[in-house]
Amino acid sequence: SLNGGEKREYIYRSKLPDIEIRNNQNLASYCFEKVADHLDRPALIDGATGKQYTFREMELLSRKIAAGLDKQGIAKGDVIALLLHNCCEFPLVFLGSLVRGSIVTTANPFYTPGEIAKQLNACKAKVIVTMAAYVDKVRDLGCKIITVDSPPEGCLPITVLTEQDEKDCPVVEVDPDDVIALPYSSGTTGLPKGVMLTHKSLISSVAQQVDGENPNLSFQSDDVMVCLLPMFHIYSLNSVLLCSFRVCSTLVIMARYEITALLGLIQKYKVTILPIVPPTVLAISKSPLVTNYDVSSVRMVLCGAAPLGKETEDAFIEKIPAKIGQGYGMTEAGPVLSMCLAFAKDPFPVKPGSCGTVVRNAEVKIVDTVTGVSLPHGQPGEMCIRGPQIMKGYLNDPEATANTIDKDGWLHTGDIAYIDQDEEVFIVDRVKEIIKFKGFQVPPAELEALLVSHPLIRAAAVVSKKDEAAGEVPVAFVVRASEDTELSEEEVKAFIAKQVVFYKKLHSVFFVDSIPVNPSGKILRKILRDRL
Ligand code: ATP
Ligand code: MG
Repeated sequence: SLNGGEKREYIYRSKLPDIEIRNNQNLASYCFEKVADHLDRPALIDGATGKQYTFREMELLSRKIAAGLDKQGIAKGDVIALLLHNCCEFPLVFLGSLVRGSIVTTANPFYTPGEIAKQLNACKAKVIVTMAAYVDKVRDLGCKIITVDSPPEGCLPITVLTEQDEKDCPVVEVDPDDVIALPYSSGTTGLPKGVMLTHKSLISSVAQQVDGENPNLSFQSDDVMVCLLPMFHIYSLNSVLLCSFRVCSTLVIMARYEITALLGLIQKYKVTILPIVPPTVLAISKSPLVTNYDVSSVRMVLCGAAPLGKETEDAFIEKIPAKIGQGYGMTEAGPVLSMCLAFAKDPFPVKPGSCGTVVRNAEVKIVDTVTGVSLPHGQPGEMCIRGPQIMKGYLNDPEATANTIDKDGWLHTGDIAYIDQDEEVFIVDRVKEIIKFKGFQVPPAELEALLVSHPLIRAAAVVSKKDEAAGEVPVAFVVRASEDTELSEEEVKAFIAKQVVFYKKLHSVFFVDSIPVNPSGKILRKILRDRL
């Protein structure tokens, strides 16, 4: 398109046509639109106990819980905090809150009391739904505490929500721009940021993934998806929970991820869709255990949240011969920006290592980080996205919001990417993580992908180290395949050196027992940099 008749703007779109998205309703009504045809199908299965909820029960419980929240004094626009590891009650309370018109904020239950207090005070949470084991972390916050298991002193049982009369469910008027979810970003590069998502943003995002005659992600009602990703993170909340509800597929919930338990559940429930993050892809690709299980039911493996190299993708399908592809997300973007088109009902050919193509009903541009000029195919720059799915803004931070969403509605991601001639998105790395060796750019993700392709390396991370001559140099932290693996620093350096241009060579290699990653699978490079 032409901008002011002078400068060319390069705008990228999906290869799928736009669809009509009815995003002016309650997200719960949207999610339940097709339940009438699937009422007796299991919606949720607790992987550990086998306890199930059908779609009929789930829909009814959402109204009972809405009545219960109302009784507990939760009004439209009030905030409820979910401090839970994965369990059936998490989505049930989330749906109940949607029906009530209240807002759910989600936090990692392993956070310290201080971290939790900061988040819950900032959003003025009134009620906390948690587990007995976490109650001591939140006693002092002055909130009502409800536990999904047996309540300690001073706390209420979950039945104050689940055993109410659905006839008392309040009628709520919906403004599509009402905030309904307050997820927090992962805090990989700084403090986690509270992100305001609305009925409109989440309906749009789910529709961009699973709606239309040719859905980008062809989930079907007879699919079985396993939910091991933490529900407090937006990847799981949106692309796993909400997308599964929308298409009425079955969700098998794992409270705690562990590879043999996962393989056991895949075999037992004939799981067809496996949404995971790169460390799990890597663990499976290097695990000798997989051959002990029947994993032939898996047809789709969805990976996102952090960079995944094509070498790891290739190694993975040797173990689980399914279609593997990536999505690229960011909490602020609702979160999905791009999705693998091999997952479409009528699939497109895709390349390994790509993060898919921009979702439908949205626009992307790639801008030069210095001049802001938009760039053509093949040129890397900062990825920006515009569409009905992006966040309303950061909580209590109009300045940060204005720095992220510009006056034309473009959300600036902080990620460097390029789009190839086939409209596929390739993420190079975050602007903040790129190492600058004498002005040459070294993306740590590229070196990490090469490192983990080595059979004697189980995991790796690359960070920058200050250097007088070069400014910054790349150094690696490496986990050897096993305790008796013999692998020297010189061997690792040589392995990389023969595959990269001179300025990307590793300057040091440190052997460690593990690489710190957060629950959404991202390498915590700041912890490693501090160790240098
Ligand atoms: P914070 O913003 O608090 O530092 P965060 O950016 O890690 O944390 P999220 O919103 O969970 O928090 O993650 C979004 C980021 O994850 C993206 O900006 C991008 O850097 C990275 N990411 C997501 N998907 C992919 C992918 N498929 N490939 C590479 N990077 C990805
Ligand atoms: Mg971020």
